[in-house]
Amino acid sequence: TPAVALDGVTRRYGDTTALKGVSLSVREGEFFTLVGPSGCGKTTTLRLLAGFETPTHGTVRFDGESVAGVPPEARDVGVVFQNYALFPHMSVGENVAYGLRFTDPPGGVSRDERVSTLLELVDLAGAEERDPDTLSGGQQQRVAMARALAPGPDLLLLDEPMSALDAKLRERLRVQVREIQRELGITTVYVTHDQEEALAVSDRVAVVRDGHIEQVGTPREIYREP
Ligand code: ADP
Ligand code: ADP
Repeated sequence: TPAVALDGVTRRYGDTTALKGVSLSVREGEFFTLVGPSGCGKTTTLRLLAGFETPTHGTVRFDGESVAGVPPEARDVGVVFQNYALFPHMSVGENVAYGLRFTDPPGGVSRDERVSTLLELVDLAGAEERDPDTLSGGQQQRVAMARALAPGPDLLLLDEPMSALDAKLRERLRVQVREIQRELGITTVYVTHDQEEALAVSDRVAVVRDGHIEQVGTPREIYREP
C-alpha cells in the first residue's frame, strides 16, 4: 500500500487549473520529491496532502483510504513551508513545543523531554532557551523541522525549506534533512524547483509541469533521459 496517493486530482482556482488530473503514489518511508518551475502546482499538491485544500475532482488517499473531510490536525502530517517563520517572541524550545498544541508527546514522555529529543535530532541539543533571532537560517529551518516532527507525524511535507539559504548552507541542510528522514523512516514529500537538489536527496522524483506529472522515477532513471 502506498503511504499517500493522489488519484486523478484536479484543483481549480477560478480560471486557473493548478492541477490537471494528477495521479501519483508515494511509498511508505520514501523520500519523494516534486520538482518543477514556479507555478506548476507543487505547493497545491502539498496543501492537498496536508488538508489545507480540497480537490475539485479526484481523491487523496492515505494508506489507500480517502482522507476527504479529514481536517489537517487529524492527518498526522508535519509541514515545513519555505516561509514558515518561527515565532520570534518565543524561545526555540517554546517554538518546538508549539508543535504539540494538538497532541500529547508520543511515547508518554513529558513535553520538555520531547522538545529536548527533537532538538537533539536536528543537531541543536540544548538550544531550548535560545532566541530564534540568534540562529542562522539553516538552524531556524531545523527548529521548524523539529516543531513539525514533535507530534510524531506519519508524513512529512517540506515546501522549498532551503530556498532562503545560500548554496553552501543548502547543501549541508539537505544532507541533514535526509539523515533525519532516514533515521525516522518517515514518508516525506519534498518540493523544490532545483533539479540538482531533487536528484541529490530523493528516492524518487516526479517532474511537474503546468499541472501535470511529466515523469516519475529514481534520480538515476530521470537523469539518464534527455
Ligand atoms: P508552485 O508551488 O509549483 O509554484 P502552486 O501550486 O503554488 O505552484 O500554483 C499553481 C498555480 O495555481 C499557479 O498558477 C498559482 O498562481 C495558482 N494558485 C495556487 N494557489 C492559488 C489560490 N489560492 N488562488 C488562485 N490561484 C492559485
Ligand atoms: P510558492 O511560490 O512557494 O508556491 P507563493 O508565494 O506562490 O508560494 O504562494 C503562497 C501561497 O499563496 C500558497 O498557499 C498558494 O497556494 C497561494 N497562492 C499562489 N498563487 C495565488 C494566487 N494567484 N491567488 C491566491 N493565492 C495564491
